[in-house]
Amino acid sequence: MPQAHRRPTAVFAKYFAKYGMSAVLATCCLSAPIVPSAAGAATAKPADEKVTPAPWTRDDLAAAKALRDRLVKGSEAFNFVRDLTTEVGPRSAGSAGDATAVVWAKAKLEALGFDRVYTQEVNVPHWDRGELEVRTEAPFPQRLVAASLGGSIGTPQEGLQGEVVRFDSLEALKAAPDAAVAGRIVFLDQSMMRDREGKGYSPVVRGRADGASLAGAKGAAAIVIRSVGTDATARFAHTGAVTYAINAPRIPAVALANPDADQLARQYATAMAHQEPVRLFLRSTARELPMAKSANVIGEIIGSELPDEVVLLGGHLDSWDLGHGAIDDGAGVAIVTAAAIGIKQAGLKPRRTMRVVLWANEEFGLSGANEYARREAANLGKHVGAVEADFGGARVFRFSSRVAAAAMPAMQQVQSVLAPLGIEWGNNEAGGGADTSPLRREGVPVFNLQQDGTLYFDNHHTANDTLDKVDSAAVDQATAAYAVLVWLLAQGNLVLR
Ligand code: ZN
Ligand code: ZN
Repeated sequence: MPQAHRRPTAVFAKYFAKYGMSAVLATCCLSAPIVPSAAGAATAKPADEKVTPAPWTRDDLAAAKALRDRLVKGSEAFNFVRDLTTEVGPRSAGSAGDATAVVWAKAKLEALGFDRVYTQEVNVPHWDRGELEVRTEAPFPQRLVAASLGGSIGTPQEGLQGEVVRFDSLEALKAAPDAAVAGRIVFLDQSMMRDREGKGYSPVVRGRADGASLAGAKGAAAIVIRSVGTDATARFAHTGAVTYAINAPRIPAVALANPDADQLARQYATAMAHQEPVRLFLRSTARELPMAKSANVIGEIIGSELPDEVVLLGGHLDSWDLGHGAIDDGAGVAIVTAAAIGIKQAGLKPRRTMRVVLWANEEFGLSGANEYARREAANLGKHVGAVEADFGGARVFRFSSRVAAAAMPAMQQVQSVLAPLGIEWGNNEAGGGADTSPLRREGVPVFNLQQDGTLYFDNHHTANDTLDKVDSAAVDQATAAYAVLVWLLAQGNLVLR
């Protein structure tokens, strides 16, 4: 959770927790700023009469409900992710697939009927995983299923081998004396917990990102980690970016499929019992290539009354190379695209501009998101709100916001339109997502339409990230939710910050 924007919202959330929403509504309705309604400022009221204009006209709310009921029955979302995965497939930053994805997405947004479609050039890292071989040499020689972590260096051409030292947490690795690690291959063996909100991810993903530099600083020859994923039985490995610290030696970093991590752990236990070492052999031709060009692909439905005010919705166009990028993040870009175009196709004309941003390179460090925020720096005050979809193809179950306290009654109205989709209210401490984080830091209000992540990390960042994991009814439900939110943000008389 970011700490940069501690406006009254945090205080408000505590107040809400203590006294409940009715107390909050009573408080903020009295202090809500009066904004002239675009639907006609109508008759002037006497100065002493406290009037808070409704954020939305009756027509706007009726349109939101009709949009919800229309899109939940069918949207463009599934067709979009089907076509993206079929016609482009893997599209990791800087690859030929990435370049194809940019051309494909621009043409697709044009064909769908966005008012304005353009690209924003972005420099991205480019990495090639090459080939990988991982096997135990002693005590029981066997091949292991593994994948290089994104950005990992390769091994010497002839490979490398070393004695394994196992740790069950990053903290245990940190605490180990250098002598216990130097010259060895670190095996970081921590499991990920399954959770609807994906809460199991952040405790273990630090091992994937930072483990290599921690081990490298202690003199390790390489690091192998248990895959960051919740499939305890599937025999494929989960990739994901490794982050090399500037001041630590770079060592090869590899993830083992969960059953192969089990296998290595069993061999390790047996070997330890006999006071013998486990020896591992690794050979990888992974390498970093020169920086490449990619682009954010942007489609707009231009606002009819306030065209320079922007409601942003986005997802990332890049994916990992191993699978087809269906759940990460084909489904997300499909949902936001379908939500925006679904509004136009319903014959609605938003007052503000709805801008769909398909960001370049999320996976290797948010290049597209940072470039967007840099180019739009002078216009971020005109960004009414931002929401992203990057959590797979499952249903939305919770809505959260990060807005000024005075806007909470309006958020409850949004919530009441979302509720029939099976969506509950979360809180006013929405974190947004990775690609909206540069916008949130600049004070743009962010929202979360949280998708069910129970199964997401089974296939996340693997060769098994394919279209069959995307449920068309679920992405329609998510599309309906995004459409309701962005439509209401585009229409309302709102002061969100
Ligand atoms: Zn990802
Ligand atoms: Zn993602």
